[in-house]
Amino acid sequence: MRTFRFTAWSVVVAAAVAGGAVTFAQVLGYDDTPMQPDGKWKIHDIKRPHPPVVTPGPFVTAPAPADAVVLVGPGSDLSQWQATTWPMADGVLSSGKGMLTSKASFGDIQLHVEFATPTKVIGDSQGRGNSGVYVAGVFEVQVLDSFENPTYADGQAAALYGQFPPLVNASRKPGEWQSYDIAFKAPRFDASGKLASPAIVTVLHNGVLVHNARAFWGPTQHRRIDPYAPSNASGPIRLQDHGNPVRYRNVWVREIKE
Ligand code: MG
Repeated sequence: MRTFRFTAWSVVVAAAVAGGAVTFAQVLGYDDTPMQPDGKWKIHDIKRPHPPVVTPGPFVTAPAPADAVVLVGPGSDLSQWQATTWPMADGVLSSGKGMLTSKASFGDIQLHVEFATPTKVIGDSQGRGNSGVYVAGVFEVQVLDSFENPTYADGQAAALYGQFPPLVNASRKPGEWQSYDIAFKAPRFDASGKLASPAIVTVLHNGVLVHNARAFWGPTQHRRIDPYAPSNASGPIRLQDHGNPVRYRNVWVREIKE
């Protein structure tokens, strides 16, 4: 059973009934969460406006360039990842139990990810095709089926989870392959461990710019924002298991050295 909280503004949008028991329910947003650091919106604010929908152009893949580390590719195995139950077949990875974590850690990167949420729509809001791409181990770019699926704006597909909605909603239909292209500049810390510059990310969703050099407030979490720590200067690529079957293929990363 999922845990959820009812608040004055929380709206239950779905409840699956199995054997007479409610097995899950999803909320559209919150009003009892902390205010974000700029004082404009609460985390997962139910009143935060949703970005406009932009239909992307036809899908275009991006084969790995020569200097990329291929995490998921044609004919690849799970050797780039820590021990996992996520099944891989014919170059397609399916979500399994628990977070999938790369063996290698990275700082500044270019990351390409292709993903598909389930063709058969089950659930609503955060319960529909939920997964996520974590950079430096702790900064989530949300994966969700956001095709005609209302949820809180900072939790929809391509959101910097719990912090910023995408500039536009460039989601494709359920089951269709989609892409993220992510340019990530890791946070810097001074010798005393104090934050010198935050993590900065630019994201294209299906070739459409959805974050333009956006700074994370800190590591992403549900209902909160964690403070920066010097350990955030680098970390693994992680793919989230949120209990929904999401597929991945053609995942590659390039380390950016200045
Ligand atoms: Mg997620």
